[in-house]
Amino acid sequence: MERQSGRKALVHRVKGNFVVEENIGDVQWPQQCAVCGGPAETTDCLHLQSTFKALGKIDVDVDGIPYCRECFPKAHKGKVLERVRTVLAFVLGIPLGLYLIVLSMQQRSSGSKFVWIGMIMVLALAAGFGLSWLIVDFPIRTLFRRQFAKPVDAWLIQENKSDNREGISVVISIPNEDYAAAFAGLNGA
Ligand SMILES: [Zn+2]
Repeated sequence: MERQSGRKALVHRVKGNFVVEENIGDVQWPQQCAVCGGPAETTDCLHLQSTFKALGKIDVDVDGIPYCRECFPKAHKGKVLERVRTVLAFVLGIPLGLYLIVLSMQQRSSGSKFVWIGMIMVLALAAGFGLSWLIVDFPIRTLFRRQFAKPVDAWLIQENKSDNREGISVVISIPNEDYAAAFAGLNGA
């Protein structure tokens, strides 16, 4: 996944998202705001980092995502809100899980406890995510609708590439459909 000049990024579409197999540095961004289609006045860079069993720690930058001056801070606020929601989900979910585990310990005398503990924790965290969405995300987004914009997002996945090698690809999600169509056109996806 290194930048090689003259090379084109290898991009295909999967369920509305774009998967970049090769040359992420050569992805072409349509020169307009990725949220509203207005003038491209500033760019965003997403730093992606994940650890994969077979390949270790992978760092990739997705650079040059254009925004206008109005949308850029709104896109950033959306990310901050997402982080707050994730933290709150754990803050709510972990104590809830522990509480439920204690309750279930008192009732079940023997048997597959570890399986139960794992399942309860997963359910409690799911409940935590639901609760934090209800408490934080939903009301704030409803009240301050005009303060938020859905930004371009990206993350890393391990997959079998077209030539059947296992490797890391970058998934790019573009919420604005017009911008996504222009992106597809530019990158041959
Ligand atoms: Zn804009």
